[in-house]
Amino acid sequence: MRLTKTYEELLAEMEELQIQLQEAQDAIEAIRTGQVDALVVRNGNGPQLYTLKSADQTYRVFIEKMKEGAVTLDKNGVILYSNSQFASMIGLPLPLVIGIHFLEFIPAEFAELFKKLSNKGWQSDSKGEIHLKNKNNQRIPFLLSFTSLELDEGKALSIILTDLTVQKETEEQLRLKNELLEEARRHADKMNEELEDIVVERTRDLYLSREHFKFLADNIPVIVWTTEGNGNAVYFNRQWYEYTGLSLEDSKSERCQQALHQDDLALLRQVWDDAVKNKKPFHFEYRIKRAVDGSFRWHLAKGEPFKDEAGKIIAWFGTSTDIEDQKKEMEKKDEFISTASHELKTPLSSVKGYVQLIGRQNTLPGTVNQYVAKANESINKLQHLINNLLDVSKIAAGKLKFTMDVFNLSDLVNSCVEDCRHMYGAFNISLEVEDCLYVLGNSERLEQVLMNLISNAVKYSPDHKEIIVRAERKNDHIVVSVQDFGIGLTEENRKQVFERFFRVETGRFSPGLGIGLYISSEIIKEHNGTMEVVSKLKQGSVFSFSLAAATSA
Ligand code: ADP
Repeated sequence: MRLTKTYEELLAEMEELQIQLQEAQDAIEAIRTGQVDALVVRNGNGPQLYTLKSADQTYRVFIEKMKEGAVTLDKNGVILYSNSQFASMIGLPLPLVIGIHFLEFIPAEFAELFKKLSNKGWQSDSKGEIHLKNKNNQRIPFLLSFTSLELDEGKALSIILTDLTVQKETEEQLRLKNELLEEARRHADKMNEELEDIVVERTRDLYLSREHFKFLADNIPVIVWTTEGNGNAVYFNRQWYEYTGLSLEDSKSERCQQALHQDDLALLRQVWDDAVKNKKPFHFEYRIKRAVDGSFRWHLAKGEPFKDEAGKIIAWFGTSTDIEDQKKEMEKKDEFISTASHELKTPLSSVKGYVQLIGRQNTLPGTVNQYVAKANESINKLQHLINNLLDVSKIAAGKLKFTMDVFNLSDLVNSCVEDCRHMYGAFNISLEVEDCLYVLGNSERLEQVLMNLISNAVKYSPDHKEIIVRAERKNDHIVVSVQDFGIGLTEENRKQVFERFFRVETGRFSPGLGIGLYISSEIIKEHNGTMEVVSKLKQGSVFSFSLAAATSA
């Protein structure tokens, strides 16, 4: 038998082996991808048919298709099997992966950990996270799950590799978001704490101011009440309960009217309705029954609306002050004024008569004539004063009545100013009067008003001698005004000048009783007109009255 082979024989053998290798590689690929489930293998006993168990085939396909990497290592750590997924994770073609030592893909810093995990994996299932490096030396985080396998060829270690890149990124983003969330929570907590502090402080302030209000309200001799925006009563102070003897429940109901004088109810309702409609403060006088003796006593009620930012009324606050004693005092004063002025009137008239008789004597020396003239002047002033006091009494008794005719107010203003120019020679009284300003009125009384305004302008302008009198038509009204540049009024005093006996304390003496403007305003009221004043302290005032225009007679 020949032991050596010829060159041709060896060449043919090699060709045969190459064909077998190619067939084997194709078979492996077909098996891997599940294209075949049986194959014929030729051996010394001739061709034999090997069928792949269907379960094995399923797993093979499954492993190929799953998105995790899967490798099997022999006991030296060399890769026996790898799915295509692992090869693409690492960035190498599959044939190059098989046969490589797995440690090749482990960065140095993870080598120790990998050894530990794989040693454990040989014993029992284990897991761990490590980084692998791909062909470009980039680190990729993986979760490695180790399982040892009993293969026909011996023991092997299977590793399933899950790419954790997306998970890690998500975790990082989640961590950042959590940090932001935590920061926001801390911020919110801080704000909450601050808010709580503010609320505590405000609550304390509120409590204090409410107690303060209640203490004051309960300890003043004035009735205090508050209502909701719609007028429903909310609160009455102690004075109210003591005064009226009503309970809170009665006070909040219609029974509250038991404490009021029946004759005042209609006016009360009207004033209240007007105030609610116009959202304006109100004041009026009415009688409240004092429980202790059952007497009705006069009170001055004042109410004020409190509005929110949108202008809606959210509450009404009010007071009622017992003015019975002052009213009685006033009545006594009125009575005295009435009696005194009547008593003075008659003797004064006779004095005036006698002085006039003396004045008519032709034989009187010149000095006596001068005295008579001076006496006449004083008598006139006294008469003017007494007439004013009588007017006050008439107003108090509701008896200020006079006849009215249509007349030309322009004439009246012209002649009044003419007189005043003679009376107050030091003053420059200028006149701006429209013609034909007809009104229905009492010319004497309106003259009294105008003279009063001009004499006040003179009296309260010590340094500025300029006065302007105007009479003009404004729409369907005639407005007469007197402007001066004198001492003027504060806002507070401006509101009070038409009250009876009101005088501003200026520190300098100026004669008067504080009744001229009161009488004037009552006269204008009687004409259904209005009177007002615009004034600025130290700059002067404009007093005016307005009457409905009438058509000429
Ligand atoms: P009186 O007799 O005091 O002048 P009036 O009723 O006419 O009384 O006026 C009341 C008060 O109003 C005066 O005391 C004065 O303080 C103030 N008053 C009136 N007219 C003027 C004015 N033209 N300028 C400044 N204050 C005035």
